[in-house]
Amino acid sequence: MPLRSWGPGGGGQASRYVAAGALTAGMLVWAAHEAWPSRDVMVALPIVVTSAYDEWADTLGRREMLSDVLQRAGISGREYVSFMKATHVLNPRRMQPGLIFEIRRQKGQPVANRLGVRLDPERRLWMTRLGGDSGWREIIQDIPWATERLRTTAVIQSNLYDALDAAIPDSFLPVRQRVGLAWAIADVYDWEIDFTRDLRPGDRVEVLIERLESPEGERRLGRILAARVEVGGSPSFAFAFDHYAGQPEFYDDRGRSLRRAFLRAPLRFSHISSRFGGRYHPILKRWRTHEGTDYAAAYGTPVRATADGVVTEAGRNGGYGNLIELRHANGIRTRYGHLSRFAAGLHVGQHVSQEQTIGYVGSTGLSTGPHLHYEFLVNGRPTNPQRKDAGAGEPVPAKLKAAFDSTRVRLLAELEPGPVPVKPALGAAVGAARDD
Ligand SMILES: [Zn+2]
Repeated sequence: MPLRSWGPGGGGQASRYVAAGALTAGMLVWAAHEAWPSRDVMVALPIVVTSAYDEWADTLGRREMLSDVLQRAGISGREYVSFMKATHVLNPRRMQPGLIFEIRRQKGQPVANRLGVRLDPERRLWMTRLGGDSGWREIIQDIPWATERLRTTAVIQSNLYDALDAAIPDSFLPVRQRVGLAWAIADVYDWEIDFTRDLRPGDRVEVLIERLESPEGERRLGRILAARVEVGGSPSFAFAFDHYAGQPEFYDDRGRSLRRAFLRAPLRFSHISSRFGGRYHPILKRWRTHEGTDYAAAYGTPVRATADGVVTEAGRNGGYGNLIELRHANGIRTRYGHLSRFAAGLHVGQHVSQEQTIGYVGSTGLSTGPHLHYEFLVNGRPTNPQRKDAGAGEPVPAKLKAAFDSTRVRLLAELEPGPVPVKPALGAAVGAARDD
């Protein structure tokens, strides 16, 4: 457990040079204590540890400052100054209301002698009062999250959020973490599946994840290790493989990267609110010359270039309103209409890269509400982008193929420990995967 601590150290060094006439009160007490055993036989009182301290929790309220919480713990005036001098991580100007402080005070004492607060999911801060004039000591403790591998299967009835919500009980992952899982799955399949419109009832999502658990019993999502998403009877696998000993890349069952030349959708799934993102949204058919795909999304949602390209248009264009057109390889162009505004500095001739934010959702031109109009043109003709248009994924480098294959086999056995049922029951199956 790496500890970092600060505080007025070096006390021993200083006391060695204390002049005889300048003995502190603390040293006198110490001297008297040393003399005890030689005078009387002391009878030790039974020590009841549980009653030695009062312990309670306090919460930083709205419009409260750190000093308010500390004052309730008896830390004010000089004690407050001493406390603040010892802390390097508590910033009284940057504290979230709702922050919980664990406070401990010795019975009968007016001032708390220990205060704990969770800084973030990974760290807890302990402030300990050293007594006398020694002030406070700051210790930062790493929270040891235990990792477990879990698999889950969700069957789509309306959308990805609802399917995961139904499949995973609160005791496995709390609701916000389940939403995070939906976003993470969509990010893995960003080049392959548009989760806002490709899914249909009966499609299946299987995923093998790391779940982290803190000593206090909090649970959160770790990495996605493997997944299988079946859309219209056609399965797509994803296996995490640590290519450069950094961020793992995802490869399919044949060892090809899930990254392609084109993203499946110009809006990031996690940027579309669950209100819009999950549901199959009715297409707004009010625009006569409509030949594209509409994405309902909140005003200001970032719009991504779906592939590397060059800006060929960025300006007002009739019914499109604020329009961006990009030119890509192989005679493909993409168009993004009704934007509220363009990314700062965007101009014709500029090179943009895949996933770069080029503009923001709006309702300019012939539009009845904030949405993005997206067109995919092959040799000038609006086309419904097919998987072949996205290009092929890069294969695992030849010298890593054997390592990938053994990873894939192991992950597949954890993802699908038994035969896949022919007719899956609606609802869910959650089970712990073997971890070997
Ligand atoms: Zn449209």
